[in-house]
Amino acid sequence: MSTNLQTPIDYLKGVGPNRAELLRKELGIHTYQDLINLFPNRYLDRTKYYKINELQRNTAEVQIIGKIIKFEEIAQKRGKRLVATFQDDTGIMELVWFRGHKWIRENLKLNTEYVVFGKTNWFNGKFSMPHPDMELLKDHQTSIQSAMQAIYPSTEKLTNKGISNRVVLKIMQQLFTETKGRFSETLSPELLENQRLISKSEALFNIHFPQNQELLSKAQYRLKFEELFYIQLQLILKNLIHKSKIKGFPFSQVGDYFNSFFSQHLPFELTHAQKRVLKEIRQDLGSNAQMNRLLQGDVGSGKTIVAFMSMLMALDNGFQACLMAPTEILSVQHYNGLYDWCNKLNISIKILTGSSNTLERREIHENLENGNLQILIGTHALLEDVVKFKNLGLAIIDEQHRFGVAQRSKLWHKNTSPPHILVMTATPIPRTLAMSVYGDLDISIIDELPPGRQPVKTVHRYDKNRLKVFRFIRDEIEKGRQIYIVYPLIQESEKMDYKDLMDGYASIERDFPKPKYQISIVHGKMKAADKDYEMQRFVKGETQIMVATTVIEVGVNVPNASVMIIESAERFGLSQLHQLRGRVGRGAEQSYCILMTSHKLSNDSKVRIETMVRTHDGFEIAEVDLRLRGPGDIMGTQQSGVLNLKIADLLKDTDILKSARYYAQQILKNDPALSSPQNKVLLHTYKQMSKYRNIWNYIS
Ligand code: ADP
Ligand code: MG
Repeated sequence: MSTNLQTPIDYLKGVGPNRAELLRKELGIHTYQDLINLFPNRYLDRTKYYKINELQRNTAEVQIIGKIIKFEEIAQKRGKRLVATFQDDTGIMELVWFRGHKWIRENLKLNTEYVVFGKTNWFNGKFSMPHPDMELLKDHQTSIQSAMQAIYPSTEKLTNKGISNRVVLKIMQQLFTETKGRFSETLSPELLENQRLISKSEALFNIHFPQNQELLSKAQYRLKFEELFYIQLQLILKNLIHKSKIKGFPFSQVGDYFNSFFSQHLPFELTHAQKRVLKEIRQDLGSNAQMNRLLQGDVGSGKTIVAFMSMLMALDNGFQACLMAPTEILSVQHYNGLYDWCNKLNISIKILTGSSNTLERREIHENLENGNLQILIGTHALLEDVVKFKNLGLAIIDEQHRFGVAQRSKLWHKNTSPPHILVMTATPIPRTLAMSVYGDLDISIIDELPPGRQPVKTVHRYDKNRLKVFRFIRDEIEKGRQIYIVYPLIQESEKMDYKDLMDGYASIERDFPKPKYQISIVHGKMKAADKDYEMQRFVKGETQIMVATTVIEVGVNVPNASVMIIESAERFGLSQLHQLRGRVGRGAEQSYCILMTSHKLSNDSKVRIETMVRTHDGFEIAEVDLRLRGPGDIMGTQQSGVLNLKIADLLKDTDILKSARYYAQQILKNDPALSSPQNKVLLHTYKQMSKYRNIWNYIS
């Protein structure tokens, strides 16, 4: 009979209440199951025993067999250190402890053979090993032998309380003894065979006690595959259940609005990518299920027209549509852009923002409810309860990373039955991350820019070259171009940022005096109406220079602006830099992005700046960003749960993730309820996971 893995860790021989408490607090290990899933961070080669005279100054961790021949306490600046002289048949070295002297004196034996391991230092003409992991040679010889020594995650507290890596290994050994190393299989025979995976028991044994490198790799592959497979299974199931339960409005026809826009008013030929995405959306909208789609497309890839044409599909079927954007500036811009097209088609469209007045609001509310108003554009104002639609068929959210999940779901409840939802983002998310975080959404990607775009020339300049940069600005203005100069967001170090911005503004005014030059300024502390006024002056070409904080980051479209200067560029994140650069290069002219920095740059800043200079590919930039910041940071705390993986790594295990997702899809396609005999074990494991909440930790 196999041991119940839900047994509390306290019951494991050698653990006891104190250690159990520490394991719970420090590593979240409550049960046998948790312990078995404590996977090592790395492994040491245990086939090699060093002699003391073989040690090199740059040797990493080593294990040595020898005896302690004496102890000595040595006073130092603060407290004492305990030094043991350790000897083998080739020489002597020192073992050093800064804490826990009493325990060591009482427990370690003199003149008895030990295996010590740890990092060695070269200090005062001798090798020394601080806080070594120690094991009696005779215990070492009888312990489970493995070629590689697992090194487990630990905390300072655990080390201080004597739960060293060796102790964890001992406990782990005990667990394997009690369970006889037999664990129920959690994947189906088909999967094991198909993917050539080793069994669960073999994998667990080799992840903790690798017999050789090959078996370790197989164990890692199997466990990573399993972890990613069940996450994908969960996400895809969620999506399927969603589709079967939640009826959408089937937009059965492509009607007059769409057709006449397409044949008479299309301002340019759609790119292949735009056409493909429109087809994908059309398919969703035509089906019985509610659409939940994420549209990713780099800045300038032309998401707006796709959004508009999707709205036309709703209108053609007698429904209303809305488009929500994160800022007033953006909403206004969308409104202005769509207004002309709507006019040509005789479609009613309005904008609702924080600064709409009472009269406008009342009129909008009324016409929404009686159905006279067909398209509503706006900010968060759309989410207010008073905003009610007669029959909202499609809700589009632009730049979704600015909105929380809660807000997304609010849109859902604007109707008796939820509208189709299209979420658009220009912040590319690396594919692997998207698969895991948005695995329950369907994803469309516009991976092609409209033709004729010239890449923005990007350079890095140090502050001391400012005069040259200003000369360049003057030349560009001479040619009729407009310039953005962006400062870091006024936020954390609010006062300093504000001062930087104002100092910068003052110096720009000095170098670009009125009346020849006109300058707009926009920052987060201004009232919405003032911002808008300044913005509009720039849009209309009344000002040549726009000094701003990152409020302009997203979506703003002024094709005549051809130079983007980013001050203190080292303080911006990669995706922000990419967004900002996307503000230029929208017209026919050659555009430029100048990244200004001080001389002192951290390594990360250097990588960010170099990446921007090297590439324009939003997905490539996103990958670098992911590598620099880690997935948790990129998605924000909101979704970081998804990324709490135990063994797989979203950056490195892309291929495993892809095949895990593929198999999960295939299996659910043939057997959506996992009810067939060969999938019994999958269903069982899946239910177990849900029961013990393991899997829910992954899902936000
Ligand atoms: P984003 O994806 O960043 O929202 P927009 O929808 O604002 O991009 O489009 C950027 C610019 O490209 C706009 O000026 C738009 O009119 C233009 N555009 C979009 N699609 C095409 C196309 N297929 N051919 C030419 N220009 C296009
Ligand atoms: Mg846009």
